[in-house]
Amino acid sequence: MALGDIQGKAVAKANRLSGAARVIRVRHGLYRVPSATQPDVVYTVTGDGRFVIDYACTCPAGRSGIPCWHAAAVRLRKTQEEAKADWRRILARRAAEALPRDPDRAA
Ligand SMILES: [Zn+2]
Repeated sequence: MALGDIQGKAVAKANRLSGAARVIRVRHGLYRVPSATQPDVVYTVTGDGRFVIDYACTCPAGRSGIPCWHAAAVRLRKTQEEAKADWRRILARRAAEALPRDPDRAA
């Protein structure tokens, strides 16, 4: 299976499991993701980047260099956080644009 297909499967599984919501952010570049099958197991995901393969995971698949859903979940979470930050920037820009340019003409 091609790497892109494996990444796609990892992302699909992360979506199916609401993986982004399961991610525990320790700090930038360091995350914990609970196992979906073993109640007391939590995997560590490290990395930063735009692609699932930019992240390493301590699960059996991850240790073998296979993109796993834990890494995909972290990437999805980061995508969501980036979208929220973009939205905050858009709102701030709109608020700034809505301010009157000449205070004397303000109602
Ligand atoms: Zn993993």
